[in-house]
Amino acid sequence: MEDCIFCKIVRKEIPSQVVYEDDRVLAFKDINPLAPVHILIIPKEHLTNVLDIHEDNVDLIGHIHLVANKIARDTGIAEKGFRIVTNCNKEGGQIIFHLHYHLIGGEELRNFA
Ligand code: C5P
Repeated sequence: MEDCIFCKIVRKEIPSQVVYEDDRVLAFKDINPLAPVHILIIPKEHLTNVLDIHEDNVDLIGHIHLVANKIARDTGIAEKGFRIVTNCNKEGGQIIFHLHYHLIGGEELRNFA
């Protein structure tokens, strides 16, 4: 997607603080962190949100969870606890319309539900 800000981050046209990268996903520090650790994990392929997950690409979600686990361990938040969140569409709080998972931790997180 030409104008998608996260696609531009994937193509390195916009700088980001990358913490993990492989052929399918990129993980980078959120520019407006809500907690001491706040990392976004995104597929390199442009998917709008979780509604773009189907039978043929559902394995991507498992891969993202493995990457999230690795980053959680590497950043030292795994044992105490963390949160993985993905927002979907406007009322779900989605601002950037490229699928992304927030990995948040490093302090006692507020409960939303
Ligand atoms: O889930 P939602 O779409 O609301 O979150 C988008 C996230 O992308 C925000 O947390 C924002 O700080 C982050 N962002 C970023 N780098 C950008 C643009 C947005 O980390 N260049």
